[in-house]
Amino acid sequence: MDQAAFSVRPGVTSQGGSILSTKVSFLAQVNRSFDRAAVISGHDPRLLAQIRECNSVYRLTFPVKRDDGSIEVVQAWRAEHSHHKLPTKGGIRYSTMVNEDEVMALAALMTYKCAIVDVPFGGAKGGIKIDRREFSAPELERITRRYTFELVKKMFIGPGVDVPAPDYGTGPTEMAWIVDTYKSLMGGGELNGEACVTGKPIAQGGINGRLEATGRGVYFGIREACDIAEDMRDLGLSRGLEGKRVVVQGLGNVGYHAANFLQQDGAVVVGLAEFEGAIANPSGLDVQKVVAHRRETGSILGFPGATDIENSREALELECDILVPAALENQITADNAGRIQARMVAEAANGPTTADADEILAKREVAVLPDLFLNAGGVTVSYFEWLKNLSHVRFGRMEKRFDEKAHRQLLSAVEKATGTDFSDQDMSLFASGADEEDLVNSGLEETMIDAFHQVREVKKRNGGDLDMRTAAFVNSIDKIVLCYEELGIFP
Ligand code: NAD
Repeated sequence: MDQAAFSVRPGVTSQGGSILSTKVSFLAQVNRSFDRAAVISGHDPRLLAQIRECNSVYRLTFPVKRDDGSIEVVQAWRAEHSHHKLPTKGGIRYSTMVNEDEVMALAALMTYKCAIVDVPFGGAKGGIKIDRREFSAPELERITRRYTFELVKKMFIGPGVDVPAPDYGTGPTEMAWIVDTYKSLMGGGELNGEACVTGKPIAQGGINGRLEATGRGVYFGIREACDIAEDMRDLGLSRGLEGKRVVVQGLGNVGYHAANFLQQDGAVVVGLAEFEGAIANPSGLDVQKVVAHRRETGSILGFPGATDIENSREALELECDILVPAALENQITADNAGRIQARMVAEAANGPTTADADEILAKREVAVLPDLFLNAGGVTVSYFEWLKNLSHVRFGRMEKRFDEKAHRQLLSAVEKATGTDFSDQDMSLFASGADEEDLVNSGLEETMIDAFHQVREVKKRNGGDLDMRTAAFVNSIDKIVLCYEELGIFP
């Protein structure tokens, strides 16, 4: 293995563009993790070089008419990192921080993420460089529809081509506009049009459980990690989630749901951070009440019983067992990594820890559950939604009643044979058939647990010294290499 082929020169992005020496680009950070794992994987360096590259990037600008009649020029991107499996898959982000480097980095992470959770997609990502708070709902609709139109023109969207989803700053409403625009442009003949995007509202072909899927997956991943007594002992923590002190940064889709599920399972949320500041209470914060307070007052600050922290970022350094960054990239850096008090960093956001910070955390023996594993619940359930759209039937619709009837017959036979009567409540509990949400959540739980153990297995196989991020990358690279080896290079 030629290590030099995979080293990124300091101060130079993999695209050759020069960057400030103090700030390594997001893509360079992702590639640095890839390079470390590539060496360990031992595969053909030329094939690894192909896997590492971003296959296609579409950069576009388009005009949008503001409500006052003026025209705004909007910049946007869609990057398809790997076509080793189609369609490619990845969210769309609305943020003023969106740029080509970020979109390519996030698309690369999607490739590795899909491989880890055995979802048969290549990785992609899209972004529109806007602050959504500065646009009205009709303006956001025009921006979203125009972006979709541009993607259709260049064949950067389609059920078998490239399938977007929500990400930072987007949600089901934007996905509804995308599916409607796509289907309108394709005419009535596109039978599988609904599968062109996931994360849609239920009535537009969405799936129950998708909204909270990423946060729920984060919870399953943390729960599984905390359930391994040996690993917890190494961190100086007790086994299980009960009583674990958690700090969450970002109370959006991912952060809110992750915090909620963790709290429901016995963890104590001692700190929450948002844009405007952070709050802390060592005895615990009620996540639902904090969200209600923020909705009412416009801020999480001033929550009864909690201490306000004006500089939101300082919340990352609060005393806790598990830190869950769930906002954006580059939050734990060489600057603050030495002051992180958590024993475990659970990366719900993409790229919250810089490569330098990663090394500092590793030296301090802080466990990191890496983004490419931990937040894969979103794409996992997006995969289920895509399957639902292609099969044109809700999961559980065909078998729910049938299963229920069969279970009741079996339970009646048990009653007869044992002479015991089940209460009506027990009967309904034992007999009930699975509906769509039950199946989605069960599939998600199975996927996250299985992926965790696959990654942990790679870590153990390498003597246990390997960090979980590198182990996750090795696991992912092995699967993508196998795909290339079996298919060969065409033509
Ligand atoms: P979101 O827009 O719903 O929420 C993000 C939240 O973070 C917002 O409430 C925002 O105010 C807050 N925030 C922004 N900057 C902050 C800061 N500096 N400090 C504290 N809070 C801050 O976005 P999301 O969908 O929850 O995505 C969050 C992260 O999770 C992103 O990195 C995204 O790529 C990743 N992710 C999302 C999904 C998904 O299904 N939505 C899937 C995988 C990964």
